[in-house]
Amino acid sequence: MAHSLDIAMFCIHSCPLGQLGTRDTGGMNVYVREVSRHLGQMGHHVDIYTRAHDPYDAQVNSPFENVRVIHIQAGPMEDMGKMAQYSYLPDFALNMETFCMRYGANYDLVQSHYWLSGLMGQKYAFQWSVPHVVMFHTLGAIKNNLPLGEAESAVRLAAEYDLMHGAQRIISATALEKEELGRLYDADMRKISVIPCGVNTALFQPQDKSAARNALGLGAGKIILFVGRIEALKGIENLIYALSLLHYDARAKLFVVGGDEYSRPDVARLETLARELGVDAEFSGSVAHGLLPTYYSAADVSVVASYYESFCLVVLEALACRTPVVSTRVGVAPAVIRNGYNGFLVDDNSPQSLAVGLEAALCGGLKDADEIRRSVLDYSWEQTACRVEAEYRGILLKGG
Ligand code: UDP
Repeated sequence: MAHSLDIAMFCIHSCPLGQLGTRDTGGMNVYVREVSRHLGQMGHHVDIYTRAHDPYDAQVNSPFENVRVIHIQAGPMEDMGKMAQYSYLPDFALNMETFCMRYGANYDLVQSHYWLSGLMGQKYAFQWSVPHVVMFHTLGAIKNNLPLGEAESAVRLAAEYDLMHGAQRIISATALEKEELGRLYDADMRKISVIPCGVNTALFQPQDKSAARNALGLGAGKIILFVGRIEALKGIENLIYALSLLHYDARAKLFVVGGDEYSRPDVARLETLARELGVDAEFSGSVAHGLLPTYYSAADVSVVASYYESFCLVVLEALACRTPVVSTRVGVAPAVIRNGYNGFLVDDNSPQSLAVGLEAALCGGLKDADEIRRSVLDYSWEQTACRVEAEYRGILLKGG
């Protein structure tokens, strides 16, 4: 039997156990939780290093079998933006040394998530003479090409370029992203593996629509659901404009799940826009992951209006709950959505394109509700973790 692996995982800028749907806590955190949980169940030992941001957190938690989350102090124990966290990386390294000296650190491999973690992962992989595997989740160069007027820092771009060339292996969630790594960062395509994310189909199960609506206090009208962090990248503004263009059911309600105190100004702006356009939009703030099946089940359609997504877990979650998805061609959407069967793909996130997709879905033109859930049954976190494990073993076999 193959021996179990000791894995050091870096997920520095956002605690894997944090509240989902808030500023920096979303798909990457679900990924780290699910993959580490399954690796732990397979008998591997995973230590996840993250920055301590809450003085009430124990330094070491053990959320799942064989998995530890280790909080390392770096700067004030409070939430802070990513560039502020970058400036505290030297403190992170110092306190990490102390932790490792006191408790020991003996790993077969380092895996890091996102560029900030990659910088620490690269340092420790070198120090411990073990391979380094990186997953970026989002990329600065792609964001800079979007019409959002935001510029990702030169520091981030340089770090991503460095990691792209320094890491032994890169995991990408879609073939589309793999191509972008080659095109924008001149990455060596031979060292990139495409491993799709999964969906927890035991959690994301369809519920009776009217019971779900009653539970959420929602009426009988059409519900268009958005789930995700509140940020410009997600295209919520265009979505509100799209609702103002709907002919089929002008009284459809947009229900937006996600957000925290940092998104309050954005939410206030979006609420004003909706009011001005006569669009019925409700913002619930973030909702516990375990309650989301009720939200997906209550909706007539789930919508992804993003300019860019690395993968987009909400596509799989909604479909698993038998809710059709209207989505731009981002992340996993083009691979899983078949027009007229489980949703509609739209070419861009202009209000006009989104409105056409939403009209089509709301008209009930979809053929078979069971087909919608079936379309994602090939995606599972267990399978993702098995493929990640195979990747680790392959690298170790080659000697890094
Ligand atoms: N999510 C959640 N509660 C919320 C909002 C989002 O649990 O209030 C979860 C959602 O179910 C999904 C993840 O956050 O699993 C978002 O992942 P996705 O890949 O769609 O977007 P990302 O955060 O990576 O941009």
